[in-house]
Amino acid sequence: MANTVTDISLNDGNTIPQLGFGVYQIEPKDTAEAVGRALEIGYRHIDTAEMYGNEAEVGEAVRASGLDRGDVFVTSKLNNGFHRPEDARRAFESTLAALKMDYVDLFLIHWPLPTRYDGDFVSTWKALEEFQRDGRARSIGVSNFQVPHLERLAAEADVVPAVNQVEVHPYLTNEQVRAYGREHNILTEAWSPIAQGRVLDDPTVVDVAEQVGRTPAQVVLRWHVQRGDIVFPKSTTPKRIEENFQLFDFTLDDTAMERISGLDKGEAGRTGPNPDEFDYIPA
Ligand code: NAD
Repeated sequence: MANTVTDISLNDGNTIPQLGFGVYQIEPKDTAEAVGRALEIGYRHIDTAEMYGNEAEVGEAVRASGLDRGDVFVTSKLNNGFHRPEDARRAFESTLAALKMDYVDLFLIHWPLPTRYDGDFVSTWKALEEFQRDGRARSIGVSNFQVPHLERLAAEADVVPAVNQVEVHPYLTNEQVRAYGREHNILTEAWSPIAQGRVLDDPTVVDVAEQVGRTPAQVVLRWHVQRGDIVFPKSTTPKRIEENFQLFDFTLDDTAMERISGLDKGEAGRTGPNPDEFDYIPA
């Protein structure tokens, strides 16, 4: 079986590679090299954010790769301090300037911040709708939105988010948010897909990995792929970047899929902040 990354259709007609490369917590000085390595291996989708402080280095790596801009899917995100529409417009321009690109493939509201801005993320979303209309964001979406946040956008906005990027891994399978997405044509992007490494020593994961002759990281990432979610594991280790790319030349049977899904701990499995409460605004 050839290892070919699946392209998935978004609700706006664009397509996204189901596997990408995440750059959260990669130091700016290490980013161009890691992204360059990922592009060499065959990744064609990079997930960055203004908050990660490495957009410029992502852009640099894409240019240095020699690939056409149109061959690499680039996502960035609006930082928490810029939810007011006039700030969002300026922040989006800064993102494009840092990347040295005239468009991003996908732009997301990073966090809903329901306790900030008088609970208004709708006017922020309408600013993203502008960026899509003027062509500078080919697709737009949200991140860390809970079901009530998505319901509010459905009631008050024109465009349905193309994706919702949320924490999902075997210890937090996040079924309610995923189900809402399935029903409303919003693709789920699973962040921290291997729970930053925490699920890799799990005896069930290790057992499934031994059965199929793959590594724990590969079986967990393959589990996401078979559930239809989009993933972008992060690593700066070339061997792991390569390992995490080999997901499309094997399958997990139903029993293996169910065993991994059965590891869900619900809220107790969350590794990141709870989006209903998270209110961090960088200085
Ligand atoms: P991850 O689940 O991808 O885990 C990354 C860590 O796991 C690495 O630091 C490394 O230590 C380890 N690792 C990676 N590959 C491995 C392998 N093959 N074997 C053993 N260990 C391995 O965690 P993440 O970086 O938090 O999430 C991935 C991406 O999701 C981020 O880079 C970012 O793009 C995105 N993200 C988004 C949000 C958001 O709020 N939208 C939050 C967190 C992450």
